[in-house]
Amino acid sequence: MGHVDHGKTSLLDAIRSAKVAAGEAGGITQHIGAYSITKNGQSITFLDTPGHEAFTAMRARGANVTDIAVIVVAADDGLMPQTLEAIQHAKAANVSIVVAINKIDIPGANLDRIKTQLQEKDLTPEEWGGDTITCEVSATKKIGIDKLLEMLLLQAEVLELKADPNQAARGSVVESQVEVGRGPNATIIVRQGTLHVGDAFICGPQWGKVKALFGDSGQSLKSAGPSTPVKVMGFSGPVVPGDEFLVMSNEREARTLGEERQQNQRLDKLSSSRPVTLEGIFDSMADGQKKILNLIIKSDVQGSLEAILESLKKLPMDKVQVNFVMNSIGPITVNDVLLAKASAAVIIGFNTKTDNAAATAAKREEVQIKLYSIIYELIDQVREAMTGLLDPETRESTVGKASVKKVFSLSKFPVAGCVVDSGRIVRTGRARVLRKGQPIYDGSVQTLKRFQDDASEVRTGMECGIRLGNFDEYLEGDTIECYILEKVAQQL
Ligand code: GDP
Repeated sequence: MGHVDHGKTSLLDAIRSAKVAAGEAGGITQHIGAYSITKNGQSITFLDTPGHEAFTAMRARGANVTDIAVIVVAADDGLMPQTLEAIQHAKAANVSIVVAINKIDIPGANLDRIKTQLQEKDLTPEEWGGDTITCEVSATKKIGIDKLLEMLLLQAEVLELKADPNQAARGSVVESQVEVGRGPNATIIVRQGTLHVGDAFICGPQWGKVKALFGDSGQSLKSAGPSTPVKVMGFSGPVVPGDEFLVMSNEREARTLGEERQQNQRLDKLSSSRPVTLEGIFDSMADGQKKILNLIIKSDVQGSLEAILESLKKLPMDKVQVNFVMNSIGPITVNDVLLAKASAAVIIGFNTKTDNAAATAAKREEVQIKLYSIIYELIDQVREAMTGLLDPETRESTVGKASVKKVFSLSKFPVAGCVVDSGRIVRTGRARVLRKGQPIYDGSVQTLKRFQDDASEVRTGMECGIRLGNFDEYLEGDTIECYILEKVAQQL
């Protein structure tokens, strides 16, 4: 991933031509969205999706198909907005980062400047005492490509990336098509186990039986092990990137589960799931959870972005934490929407627009986009949303007091005959019994009577009969203090 024109495609080409040059079977006859190369007897699979659209789409569906993200930075240009975006995406997905500093063949490329910029983004290069692997490469001059591949293998070893080939296969869709004559098919990356022709499977809401498998050079395969990208034929219908692929014991089971999922999808659509919105965000949070408001901020220019961030960071965050998932300049794009969906965030736009595709995606994914052109309005609304995240506090408020004049033991539970001294006693309230000023019982008001009749409240000066919960030891002279519990909104 990386900024446009920093050389992602060239780098992928350089890596791929190394493969072809290495004399592996066949050329690249078809594009399947991912390919594997072999280096030192080990294989590395590259997700051939320059740009992070597919990556984010996958993450939005909870599938982390990548183990390592290679961030490409052009040496003559440095870290640019999309580079920062890519870094944020990779970090948000908890994916390990390797930086490829490209175009080192260009005279005057300042590597130290790039490394300083990386350091500022918490990606301190190893040679500067940090733990980020950086590789200096030239995609067009084919410099440093081998070293980059070696570093990826090394990182894989450090991360102890492992998979068991002797399991039912499990994988993720990276690309899908519906081809005339071939029906719906998809490229998947096998993550665990080994996939065989003839295996029954479930994938998202679709199911099927593997009719044929094709490798990244178009070669027909009988099986595919862990980390292999394969094109799979035999889907019941179209799937989308990020859908999970899972082998089932038989076709009937797969079909039943698929139909169940399709049915659930239809139901989900009907009973509109609750989207994340600035107004209603706290409904979706469980009690006691640390309150976090996830925001994606998009702004017209760097200056206003900084002003907004500075003001937002000044909001009190002891009780609610604002988490800036991503901040960047430019219009709101589909990527932002997918990232918002993946991280349950609200998108805040300042003096910027939402492009059409993003608006459609936001509607589909039920992501809220709020646009502002006045900073203080933006800050006020975020503050309101943060306050909304706080659980209301329960406060006790005394509504009245009564003194016990006589105890009637009419049934199993005695009734306290009282006079209300102040305020009122309410039937829906709670009360405590005080003896010599000390509370001896606390419970809800069970019955409240005026003479023989039930009363909802009894006011100062009036007589009444009170029974509390299962308390049966009233004495003349006790005080019954009635109170109610109020929910009071907390302040930040
Ligand atoms: P992408 O947009 O990130 O996929 O970038 P491309 O791979 O399309 O490269 C953008 C431009 O940079 C093209 O004109 C490439 O020829 C050029 N380029 C890519 N890598 C290198 C490199 O290592 N050195 C030089 N000098 N140019 C490069």
